[in-house]
This record gives sequence, C-alpha cells and structure tokens, in this order.
Amino acid sequence: MTIQNHAGVDLVTRLASPDPTAAVVPLRMYVDGVWTEAEDGSTFDSYEPGTGRVWASLPRSGAIDVDRAVAAARRALDGEWSKVSAADRGRFLLRIAARVDHERDRLAVIESRDNGKPIREVRAEIDGIVRYFEYFAGVCQTVLGETHPQAASVFSYTRREPVGVVGAIVPWNSPLLMLAWKLCPALAGGNTLVLKPAEETSVSALVFAQLIEEVGLPAGVFNVVTGIGESAGAALVAHPDVDKIAFTGSTAVGRQIAATAAEDLKLVTFELGGKSPTLIFDDADLDAAVHRTAYGIFSAAGQSCQAASRIFVQERVHDEFLERFSALARRIRVGHPLAETTQMGSQISAQHRDKIAAYVESGLDEGATLVCGGTRPTDPRLTEGYYFTPTILDDVRPEMRMIREEIFGPVTGVATFTDEADALRQANNTEYGLAGSVWTRDIARGHRVAAGIQAGLIWVNTTRTINHLVPFGGYKQSGYGREGGLQVMEHYTRVKSVWVDLQQELPNWYGD
Ligand code: NAP
Ligand code: MG
Repeated sequence: MTIQNHAGVDLVTRLASPDPTAAVVPLRMYVDGVWTEAEDGSTFDSYEPGTGRVWASLPRSGAIDVDRAVAAARRALDGEWSKVSAADRGRFLLRIAARVDHERDRLAVIESRDNGKPIREVRAEIDGIVRYFEYFAGVCQTVLGETHPQAASVFSYTRREPVGVVGAIVPWNSPLLMLAWKLCPALAGGNTLVLKPAEETSVSALVFAQLIEEVGLPAGVFNVVTGIGESAGAALVAHPDVDKIAFTGSTAVGRQIAATAAEDLKLVTFELGGKSPTLIFDDADLDAAVHRTAYGIFSAAGQSCQAASRIFVQERVHDEFLERFSALARRIRVGHPLAETTQMGSQISAQHRDKIAAYVESGLDEGATLVCGGTRPTDPRLTEGYYFTPTILDDVRPEMRMIREEIFGPVTGVATFTDEADALRQANNTEYGLAGSVWTRDIARGHRVAAGIQAGLIWVNTTRTINHLVPFGGYKQSGYGREGGLQVMEHYTRVKSVWVDLQQELPNWYGD
C-alpha cells in the first residue's frame, strides 16, 4: 500500500529513520478524518528522550480544537458509525491489527524514539497491541443483551448501547498500549473517541492515526488532539458533549478530573498511580524472584504504574536476596533506547530524572541505605539523554517519602518482615492498590496472600505480566474501572431496559 497521508508525507517512513541531522518534523493532528493544525496555529516541541533532541513539533490545541474534535466524534456516532454492524466493526479492528502487525518494526522504532523505552521492550508491547485489536475484534459480537423470566403477558429485554463520545487521556510511559486499551473497547462497543495523548509522547499517536486512516475507519470515529494537559486535556474533560472520560495518569490529575466530571456527571474510569509491594518468603525460588523482581522495577526504566517499588523480604533470606538482586541491578546495561543491547533506556525528561534523583536523596536523608545506583550513568555517550542508574535502597521505613509516594523511576526500597501477617500489614500500608507480587513455594500461602493484598492485580511467583484477557485496574487511590478482559465492556456500553406489554386487554384501573 502506498502511504500518502498527512499532506503528502508518510509519517512512518519519515519518523522511523533516526538521523541526527534531520530537520524537526512538523506534524499535524487528526480530526474528523483530516490532518489539521491548531486553530490559532500554535505548536509545541517533542523531545527524543534518548538524545535530548527536538525531533517533531505538534499542534497545541485549545478549547476550539477540542470542540471541533468532539463535534466530529458526535457526528460520526450519530451518523455513519451507528449504521456499521458489530460484525463490520470487528473487521475494522482486524484491519487495524493487521496494519500494526505489518508496521511493527517501524512503529517500534518510532515509539522507542518517542518515549525512550528500549526497542526490545517496545516490540513486546506492539505484539500485545496487535493481540488487543484481534481479541476485541471478536468481542464486538459478544456484547449481548438479556431477556427476563417475566409473566406471559410481559416481555422485557436489555440492549447494550454505546456510551457515546469517549474522551481518552493517556500518559507517556506506554503511549500506544494505553491508546489500544481505550480504543479497542470503545470501537467494540460502537463508541467514537477523541484522544489527548501525553505532551511528551504525541508523535506515535499521530503515526497510529495514519494507520487508522489507511484502514478506512469513517471520519470522526477516531480523533487525536495534541496539546497540553491543563488546556487541551482539561477542555476535553469539561466538554458537555463528551459522555465518558477514560483516564490513565497520576492520582493527582485523576482527582481533578473526577471533580470536573462530577459537574455534569460524566462517566469516568481511572487507571492511576501505584506503589506495588513484592513479598518474598524464605521458601521462594530466589533465582526467579531476583530475576523477575528486577524486571518488575527496572523495565520501562521504572516508569510503570505496576513497578515493584516496595520489596519486603523475609528476614532469613534478606541478605542473600539483596546481594543477588543488587548484583543483577549493577549489571543492567543502561543505554540508548534503539540499541539492541540496551536493557534499560532513558527517563522521559530531564525534569523527571531530576525528580527521581531527589527522591533518592530524600530516602538517604531519612535514613535509608544506598545499595546501588542513585546517580546518572558515567558513560560519556549518555550525557545528552535523560539517563539514571538502577537504584536499590535498603532499610526503608513506611514513613519515608520515597516509600509513600510514587517515584515512577528505577528506584526500589527493601525492608524485612517476620511472618505472613507482618508481610501483609506492611504490604497494605499504602494509599495505593494497583498490583502486588508474592513469592513462595507454599501454594496455600500464595493464594492466602493473593487474597490478603489490597490491590486489583496480584501475581504469584511472577510479576508485571498482563494481557488482553485479564482485567486490569486498581483499588484505593489507584483508581476505579477495569481495562482488558470482557469486564471492560461494562465501561464502554450502557444498559437500556425495554418493557413490552404482550397483553391485549388493559385492566380497568380508573373506572369508566
Ligand atoms: P499525568 O501528569 O497525570 O498525565 C497524564 C495525562 O493527563 C497526560 O496526557 C496529561 O497531559 C494529561 N493531563 C495533565 N493535566 C491534566 C488536566 N488538568 N486535565 C486533563 N488532562 C490532564 O501523568 P504522567 O505524569 O504523564 O504519567 C505518569 C502517571 O500515570 C503515573 O502516576 C502512573 O502511575 C500513571 N499510570 C497509570 C497506569 C495505570 O494503568 N494505572 C498506567 C500508566 C501510567 P500532559 O502530558 O500535557 O501533561
Ligand atoms: Mg504530565
């Protein structure tokens, strides 16, 4: 297929060829099936975190642009899209899956340039995205209503209807995956969607929009408005014609969105922050626990809502675990995201890297012990990007700021526990409740602890595994609503009950 979009520019080819001498690529956003600039012509820059260079400029949307996108989504919802059958919506999802699959290598390069994640991690994410679209292609035709066992004179049934225009707001850590998590159920349920990507990672969302354009999805069904959270994002949340906000991001912004959405009782689902506990019992397979827990905290350079950022180890195995865990952490190859040998890429921005460093300092000030990391890498090739080293602090206590707050970086804290009750008490001593991991060879204990951790997602003898089949979402301050699995469709459809009277004769209630 020849790709001639975006005012004649093929985004995939242009952005998937890293060239340090290349000019900044001016991008347009995708609204109502058209590539467009912001109404007032303003733009903002996108940086490549691995090199610190500006590589693209993007439209900076305001309320007018958001309004245009919402109006397009409404027209599509009430018009062409409403006439597309569930089966045909499924075919669109399959076509998107096929386009993403076909472009997987170039898409991975673009995503890795956009957010600094190592290319091999991004490839795995793109595999996941393809599976999301394939799975939800099937889900389209499984969204069923029901009938009820009424008396013979009455018939009642439910219809599952789209919620309407969905406003999706996503963060920068897994931009395309987060987009897929919202777009798949939105399309499966017959909704239309306006996406506000994170300002740091809006490039890949626009490349994705090009792929959507190529599969012929009707104009207005999927729209991308690029811009800043406080303006474009807030305008989407406040827009009276948006029926639902699907938000992934920080708990602080989630709270603001909940307050605004309460004004007109918009539907909302929230995937927010986390401070997930890892509990390592003294009968655990330590090889697996060391290896997988390292993946739990250092993949995505720790910029993951599920990150294994609090590790509790049973006293007897603390020293052995920590020695092996820190030896592995010191070996991790921090490097340029596009290098095949890189095991940990860069943080999203210089500002974020400095915030991570400040959290490490605060932990040390409050009495934690530095085991490894805590600095920027010394490799002179990494001075331009936003790199940090894998960091472990021991002797952490629950009142420390670096243990209470989400750092969103490659920093974890280690403490000990005595027995199962102590482990659970410490694990649950947090305002968050996204995920948790338990390591033990005792099957009964594994299940007991899984039940005891107050979080929406528990792993036994593994960590940080997710896919399209299993619901994902938090307890407590980690949000509400679920993404993935069939459960998500509850949040992208609403139930209408219909009563039909089958009795010909009316009772004479009001007399003659
Ligand atoms: P963030 O600051 O909350 O931003 C998330 C998104 O919200 C961005 O698109 C942002 O736009 C937008 N936004 C910011 N202020 C807004 C406002 N007032 N109104 C509407 N939208 C607004 O989060 P982040 O720092 O980018 O991402 C990291 C956070 O996401 C972490 O806390 C992490 O735990 C969470 N997260 C959760 C999950 C999960 O599934 N639970 C997954 C990934 C990440 P700008 O980019 O322009 O600021
Ligand atoms: Mg932000």
